[in-house]
Amino acid sequence: MDLTRLTERIWIFPYEEWRDRPTLGYIRGNNWSLAVDAGHSSGHTEAFYKALERQGLPLPSLTVLTHWHWDHTFGMHAIHGLSLANARTDDHIRSCREWITREGREAFLSQDFKIRNEYADERPVIVTSSDMVYTGEMLLEAGDCPVKIFQAESPHTDDSTLIFIPGEKVLFLGDSAYGAFPTWESDPELCRKLIDTIMPLDADICIPSHHDPLTKSEAVRNLQEAL
Ligand SMILES: [Zn+2]
Repeated sequence: MDLTRLTERIWIFPYEEWRDRPTLGYIRGNNWSLAVDAGHSSGHTEAFYKALERQGLPLPSLTVLTHWHWDHTFGMHAIHGLSLANARTDDHIRSCREWITREGREAFLSQDFKIRNEYADERPVIVTSSDMVYTGEMLLEAGDCPVKIFQAESPHTDDSTLIFIPGEKVLFLGDSAYGAFPTWESDPELCRKLIDTIMPLDADICIPSHHDPLTKSEAVRNLQEAL
């Protein structure tokens, strides 16, 4: 699979349903580059990096996690550079690592057949916590390319980080606009709060992790349907 270029500075490595691989993001500043999410396993991360190399793009110096779920974070042990997560995401990843250590690999794989597809080659399940942890919001300056990362309330999990690149008018949603795993039910109040977060942002493109990019009005309309 190849990268899709969305704007001057932003590419995505598109999602794949069979192995539940989410879309991974790439933001190129003049000084350094960052990735959005680490990948479902080291195999996913490596495929992403090969696509970057084919495009002649430098590997990311930093990987920002959108939330703790395995399909976004379990490739973290294979990333180039450092990782950054909010404190809740870091807590959830540590708890998940303890659970897998206690219950075993098979208990993890049996949660969803798509996880089993990701690990069909018998690669080990390796869970690492983040190198850096933030709370609230941060402004990253990648070189003539400010990147705002901030925590947001969401119907999907209680640990969403959104990534907004104002100069490109692009917002990475992660899974924040989806309902909760495994029922996919959405709490209307949390949908309303997420709409209130997204609406004021000057974004032309909103990127959910398991679907194609949307306009802001499409993303808001999807959330309104859950109200
Ligand atoms: Zn998720």
